[in-house]
Amino acid sequence: MSDTPRVWYHTFGCKANQYDTERMRQELESRGAATAFVPDDAEVAVINTCTVTNQADANARRLIRRLRRERPDLRIVVAGCSTALREADYLDMPETDGVVAGQDPLLVAGALSEFGVEAESSATPGPLARNVRGTRGWLKVQDGCDRKCSFCATRVARGDSISRPPDEVIEEAKALARHHPELVITGIHIGHYGLDLEPRITLSDLCTRLLGEVDARIRLSSIEATEIDDRLVGLLRDSGGQLARHLHVPMQSGSEEVLRLMRRWHTREAYRARVLEIAGLVDPLGLGADIIVGFPGETDAHHAETRALVEELPFTYLHVFPYSVRDRTVAASLPDRVPGDVAAARSRELREIGVEKGIAYRAARAGTTADIVVEQTADPDTSAGASALTGDYLRIRVFGDAEGGERFTAPLTLEGDQLIARRERALLPYSASV
Ligand code: SF4
Repeated sequence: MSDTPRVWYHTFGCKANQYDTERMRQELESRGAATAFVPDDAEVAVINTCTVTNQADANARRLIRRLRRERPDLRIVVAGCSTALREADYLDMPETDGVVAGQDPLLVAGALSEFGVEAESSATPGPLARNVRGTRGWLKVQDGCDRKCSFCATRVARGDSISRPPDEVIEEAKALARHHPELVITGIHIGHYGLDLEPRITLSDLCTRLLGEVDARIRLSSIEATEIDDRLVGLLRDSGGQLARHLHVPMQSGSEEVLRLMRRWHTREAYRARVLEIAGLVDPLGLGADIIVGFPGETDAHHAETRALVEELPFTYLHVFPYSVRDRTVAASLPDRVPGDVAAARSRELREIGVEKGIAYRAARAGTTADIVVEQTADPDTSAGASALTGDYLRIRVFGDAEGGERFTAPLTLEGDQLIARRERALLPYSASV
C-alpha cells in the first residue's frame, strides 16, 4: 500500500447515492487518499450499494466477487442502502474487507483507516465542493421518506425524512456552482423538503432562495406530482429557465386499484389532473415518469388503464420497470404475481409509447429556443459537435465554439433525429462564471 492510498468508487442506484459517494470521496481526500478513476489504478475500492430491488443487491455482490477475482490485492469496502439492511450478509462475504451500514462518510473513512487513510481529517467537514465527474453537481437537500409505498425498501434503509437546514444547502450550492453550471436537487423524497424543520419551510421556499443566491441552473430530480405546489410551478414558468423546465413525476400505475395495492397516497385522477395543470402552465416542459408494470394483482384491464393515462399525458420520456420482488416489503407477500413474460410485454408496450412521445417532442422543439449547458467540449478529431443538455432534458449536439461547462441560449434545429444548436458567442453572450 502506498503512502497515499488510491481509492476507486463505484455507485449503484439513484442520484442521492451519487451525492453520498461524493461526500465519501471528499472526506477521504481530506484524509490523504487520492481518487482513482479505474479499479486497476486503485488499492482500495469503495462500493456504495443500492437496495431498490433484490436484483440491485445481487448486482453489488456480483461486482464485489468480480473485483476480488480480478484484483486479489484490492481492499474492498462496502457501504450504502443494501448494507444498511443486510450488514451481516456483507460481513459474511469473504471478498469484503470492510462494511459500513449506510452512507456516513466519517464511518467510511474510519473503515479505511487500516488501509493508510489518516484517522483524522485535515479539514473541518464543509459543504461538498464538487462532483469529481460530470458537469452537473448533485445537491442533496434531504434524506429518507415518510411515505410507505408497499414496493419500496429504500425508506426502510434510509428511515424518515430528514431535511438539511436551508443555510447549509445554500452554502453547498454556492460552492458547487463554482464548478458546475447546473445543480440537481436530489434526495429520497424532495417534495417533503423542510416539513420536518423548525420553522417549517417548503421546497418552493428553498428553490426561491437558490434561484436568488446561486449562479447556476437548478434542476429538480424526481418529485411527486401531487406535492408540487403552485409556487414551484410559478418558478418553473417564470424563472427564465434558471429553474430547469423539467419534471420527473413518478406515476407507478395508472390504475386506481393497483395504486391502492402499491399503498400510494394519491388517486389516478389526482395525478392526472395535477400533471395536466402543470403542463398547461409551463411550456416547454420536459416531463418524465417512472412506471412499474406487472405489479402483483395487475390485470390486463389495469394495464390498459395505465396505457391510456400514458397516452393522454404529455410525457417526453418514460422509465418503465417490470416489477421485481424486494424482500422486507409489503408487496413481496402480495398474491397474484404476474408472469415474467406478461410483465415484459407490458413493459415493451409502454416503452414504445415513451419513445414515440420523445420523438414527437423533439420534433416539436425544432425551431424553438433552448437553455443549453454544454457537458463535453467537441472532440476535434470528429465532426460530432459538443454534447449538451437542455433545460427540458434533451440531449443535443452543439456546433461552433462550445466549451464544456458553458451555458447559453440558442435555437434548436433538427437534423435527422438529432437536435442541434450553434454556439454564436458574439450574438448570445452568457455572463455566468462557470
Ligand atoms: S414515496 Fe414511496 S417509493 Fe418514494 S421513497 Fe417514499 S416509500 Fe419509496
